[in-house]
Amino acid sequence: MLLAAAMTSTAVANDTPQVPLTAPQHGVWYEIFVRSFQDSDGDGMGDLNGVTKRLPYLAELGITGVWLMPIHPSPSYHGYDVTDYRAINPDYGTLEDFAALLAEAHALGIRVIVDFIPNHSSSSHPWFEAAAAGGAEYRDYYVWSNDPPDWRGTRGGNAWHQGPAGESYLGLFSGDMPDLNHRNEAVRREFEQIARYWLEFGVDGFRIDAIQHLVESDDGRIANTELTYAWVERFQAYVDSVAPGALVVGETWTEMPAIIRYHEAAGLAMSFDYPLWRELLSGLQSRSASDLAFGLAQTLEHYPENAWRGIFLGNHDQTRHAGLFSLPRRDERRLRLAASLLLTLPGTPFLYYGEELGMVDGPGGGDVAKRTPMRWEPGPGLGFTSGTPWTDPGAGTPGVSLAEQLQAPSSLWWHYRRAISLRRLHPALDHGDSVVIDSGERAVLALKRAAAGETLLVLANLSTRDVEVKLGELEGATTEIITGATHPGGAYLVPGLELRILRLE
Ligand code: CA
Repeated sequence: MLLAAAMTSTAVANDTPQVPLTAPQHGVWYEIFVRSFQDSDGDGMGDLNGVTKRLPYLAELGITGVWLMPIHPSPSYHGYDVTDYRAINPDYGTLEDFAALLAEAHALGIRVIVDFIPNHSSSSHPWFEAAAAGGAEYRDYYVWSNDPPDWRGTRGGNAWHQGPAGESYLGLFSGDMPDLNHRNEAVRREFEQIARYWLEFGVDGFRIDAIQHLVESDDGRIANTELTYAWVERFQAYVDSVAPGALVVGETWTEMPAIIRYHEAAGLAMSFDYPLWRELLSGLQSRSASDLAFGLAQTLEHYPENAWRGIFLGNHDQTRHAGLFSLPRRDERRLRLAASLLLTLPGTPFLYYGEELGMVDGPGGGDVAKRTPMRWEPGPGLGFTSGTPWTDPGAGTPGVSLAEQLQAPSSLWWHYRRAISLRRLHPALDHGDSVVIDSGERAVLALKRAAAGETLLVLANLSTRDVEVKLGELEGATTEIITGATHPGGAYLVPGLELRILRLE
């Protein structure tokens, strides 16, 4: 057995998931950078067969959905500049390998979505090479100008780049990533057909990369334009028509009013809640729940009823939060509280691979450092590869590997596993109605969650000191759902950096 280590006394009594996984917003998702997850052939690079080999691990952890970062051929290590949208990156394997991955995932009750990158292609994509050479067929797939306006790209530099024949082309992210022209109906149809291809292949949906940047306005607005909302509305409807129930989740790395519009105006199924992510991390660092409580209340008030939100503590673009919380030394209690919050808040949790171990960024800084190999075991190769890892994973932190944490019942990994299990046992936590309550204490987030005849009170103390809360909800007797301890009613003491869940009778 993979997980033979003894459960601790605080483990949930019945480990069988009871929340029916009828829709993608139920359960818990997991983001994988394939190049860094598991190598199966010793070349030092993670691959699809490696992911397939580790699917039972994800099932044991309680994961119900996987988001694979780009799997297509690309000249870059990260894959966000695609050269063939219908093929598999040879570093990662073959279409047959991917079919096997999907079959195994589905057999384990795990959905699989893939990164979908319509904003730009690689400058090495045959479309761009033909367009740059002046070929009429693909010229209008991209955006050209002989007299480019002064537009800034996503990183603040010039959004226009010199083409081979003297004129400029648009590339919001870089010259290696020319923006596709989604005002061109042929481009729109290309991406609908690409979506159909993968849905028919068996994927369960898409994470839409750079969703806010899809179509620029004539006056140089590069984010959240009317044309982009219209693009999303049509794409979501297209996916719904081809594969009802498939998930479309947008990289809505923007502010709340714009995110709400993707739901209200465009019918986007799921957004990523970047505002909540900021409030979670800053609240944990400042030891105050005020902004988190306010942001959550705003979210619950203003998002449309059917809007799903992906919630997260990190992803491939962010410094791993275990590093933020570990100065001067690793802060296990705050890492556990972060996980407890993620797995009790309303929304659909997405873990970033290695988060469940408290991995920190690797050496060197930049994006590669956020995407280093998974630490399955201590020692050379990390259980990730029998060869030499494609990038230096760094020395790491003592105790931060799966093998070590499985042996330690008090480890962060076991905490994640118990918290995921708890969420899946209680529909109120998984998808219940939510109300933010004024706890009367700056340090304490108080949240009521209800579903299936059960009402739970979640109390999270973001400070290091113990805080006593007095709430109307605590007038009667309550039961602490992890320990089963009863509380007679009245003031309730929330220990520093802990989250408690009480069942209201
Ligand atoms: Ca490999």
